[in-house]
This record gives sequence, C-alpha cells and structure tokens, in this order.
Amino acid sequence: MNTGMIKIELGNVMGFRQRCTLCGSMTEKCEVQATAHVTADFGPCIIRVCPECIKAGPDMIEWRIRKAIASHESWIAFLQSLIGRVELPTFAEWQAHGKMLSHQ
Ligand SMILES: [Zn+2]
Repeated sequence: MNTGMIKIELGNVMGFRQRCTLCGSMTEKCEVQATAHVTADFGPCIIRVCPECIKAGPDMIEWRIRKAIASHESWIAFLQSLIGRVELPTFAEWQAHGKMLSHQ
C-alpha cells in the first residue's frame, strides 16, 4: 500500500452526480471537479472529493473519512448477518410476477 501524500487537484466540470471517495456522499452536479488519480492495491483508482469535504477543510477531513469507514463497517456487518438467512423466490417466480404486473 502506498502511504505517500495524495494531492487533490481541481479540474474540469463534473456534469453528473458522483460518490465522494472520502465521505461517501453523493455530489450534486458540480462546476468544479476535485480528484486525484492513484494506484490502490486493487489497481488504478480515482479519488473524488465532494464540495462538503473541501469546505470541511484539512482539520475535519480525517473525521469525515473515519465516519465513512464506520458506515462501511456497519454495512459489512449487516451483509455478513445476511449470509445463510436469505430466502429468494425462484427466477421463474420473478418472471411470472413481472408478467402479471405488466398485464394489470
Ligand atoms: Zn465528501
């Protein structure tokens, strides 16, 4: 894992909503894009930073990242709790239900 500093650069218009890598929130369409291209353990990655994280500034960014980590950990725990407990309809039932809805 690379542990060097990562400089977020300001760039061109972001014409669509994106997830902030640091806090996990979805951005609105932004006039300014704040990104860094990095190589993670899993390969090339773009770090996108939302205006709220930029506004929070360097003193609060660690807290925002830690809050996002806690949220991901809660989600992981929830997913793990589902293992072995999910009863699915069959795909044929799913298709039949879709046909029934389309005829209403
Ligand atoms: Zn953010």
